Amino acid sequence: MPWFETTVLAPGITRFTEPRVHEFFRANLYRIEGRDLDIQLDFGVGVRSLTEVSPVTGRPVLAVASPAHVDHVGSFHEYGRRAGHRIEAHTFAGMDDAGTLASAFVTIESALAELPAPDWTMSRYRLRPAPLTECLDEGDIVDLGNRKFTVLHLPGHSPGSIALLDEHNGDFFSADAIYDEGLVDDIPGADVTAYLDTMRRLAGLDVGTVYAGHGAVMNGSQMRQVARKYISSKQ
Ligand SMILES: [Zn+2]
Repeated sequence: MPWFETTVLAPGITRFTEPRVHEFFRANLYRIEGRDLDIQLDFGVGVRSLTEVSPVTGRPVLAVASPAHVDHVGSFHEYGRRAGHRIEAHTFAGMDDAGTLASAFVTIESALAELPAPDWTMSRYRLRPAPLTECLDEGDIVDLGNRKFTVLHLPGHSPGSIALLDEHNGDFFSADAIYDEGLVDDIPGADVTAYLDTMRRLAGLDVGTVYAGHGAVMNGSQMRQVARKYISSKQ
């Protein structure tokens, strides 16, 4: 079995996951292909290079990291054009543990079900600095030529969580802002008040297919239900 599991979810949308990574740190990584530009959204834990499985399209790639957490930034440094939210720019630049929470991955039991290489040891695990070459913020547009994504800033899980919405067909790459399994709001950098604001926004957001940072693909009504459930859990 290859290290990355590759699933084509729709024309031009491919998901990569790392099945041997502890499920808490097993993120969904997406390649979104466009006419003039591709987006690589999120990068796994980085014990193996995501570029191993990147499709060779000949198009330039904009690497977008949704949060600066360890499960999303491992291979970020391998891309030349790197975008994320400015609030977490210092974390991308230095990969400080307070921002990446990498020590939580390093110390969790059974972080990896199998070693990525025979001589690999966790003691050598490091995230490589990946300073942003461009910043994304609420309302910015990423134009792939044949489709455009609007950037949504959705803090709560992390201060700089961003998501990408195709307002034309409703495709929504929600990253860690919302997904259909235990949402995490009790880690360093998380903010329940901000998360509630994000969930109120998401509970009223008209979207089509939701490609989340963890767990299964959802539709819009499933996503809004997750948001409403979060809101009522805090009342
Ligand atoms: Zn995550």
